[in-house]
Amino acid sequence: STMPPLLSAIANAGRRGVLAKSSVIMERLGQIDIVALDKTGTLTEGTPYVTDLCPLPGSDVDESALLRLAASTEHPSEHPLARAVVTAAGERGLPLADADDFTSSPGQGVTAEVDGHTVTVGSPARLLNGAAHEPPRKVVARLEEAGRTAVAVFRDGTPVGVLGIADRLRPDAAATVAALTRLTGRAPVLLTGDNERAARRLAAEVGITEIRAGLLPQDKLAAVKEWETQGRRALVVGDGVNDAPAIAAAHVGIAMGKAGSDLALETADAVVVRDELATVPSVVRLSRTARRLVV
Ligand code: ADP
Ligand code: MG
Repeated sequence: STMPPLLSAIANAGRRGVLAKSSVIMERLGQIDIVALDKTGTLTEGTPYVTDLCPLPGSDVDESALLRLAASTEHPSEHPLARAVVTAAGERGLPLADADDFTSSPGQGVTAEVDGHTVTVGSPARLLNGAAHEPPRKVVARLEEAGRTAVAVFRDGTPVGVLGIADRLRPDAAATVAALTRLTGRAPVLLTGDNERAARRLAAEVGITEIRAGLLPQDKLAAVKEWETQGRRALVVGDGVNDAPAIAAAHVGIAMGKAGSDLALETADAVVVRDELATVPSVVRLSRTARRLVV
């Protein structure tokens, strides 16, 4: 072809399932020397499902009431965990209540007014503070040791139950980690807002040793800034609103298209449109070849 090498690299990347927003991105992709991967929706398929319904002893909710409360609150959220909760309620035929004053805190959870109560659904580590909340802590530990993401449900500030949620590893996750390790000479780093126990378990399965768990969006951003200070050029791959600041600050930010939040897709330099993680190392390789043709 007579196309300039970087333009034809864009076209080739597109054929492999990655849409780069400019030819500069293709050039930058060839320069990256460290990779950060998000967990939920990036290393995992991003279609998690509810495995456990644990109403707390002493609360007046049963399994169905707990799920209905959580799903009503989560309904407006685009987070994969929220979709899992809403789907589980649908499968049980539970009609949802109206939610007012919905707010979401990326990396933490959501809050809304349901049935005249303030309901909060989200990260136990962020929400469970104080000795008064001891029973849910034990339930959370049991779920997390089983590799689940635990989600706590509060009504008017009182914990009423915990949900266990599981997600499948992408079939190409381990191969992608291996390919990126060969390309950069260093294993990718896992950046996740999820709990450390579940993160360690998953990291071990795919060949990642360095993990940073329990992160808020600004903590993911701080990691990228830290590498930048060290003169490193980071590739960040993520899918969520919580990944957007890190994706924006990275040398190259890539969003997973299928599970991706609107904000992550807008912010990213490139989008994985074919739902395969292995397209990422494939376009890094492509970009390196194109750069050799340019210089
Ligand atoms: P990851 O970095 O793995 O993609 P997130 O940063 O999106 O994870 O979420 C981190 C944690 O915050 C979740 O594990 C969960 O505990 C909590 N969380 C965030 N959003 C929600 C939500 N909509 N519903 C329930 N929990 C949530
Ligand atoms: Mg994610």
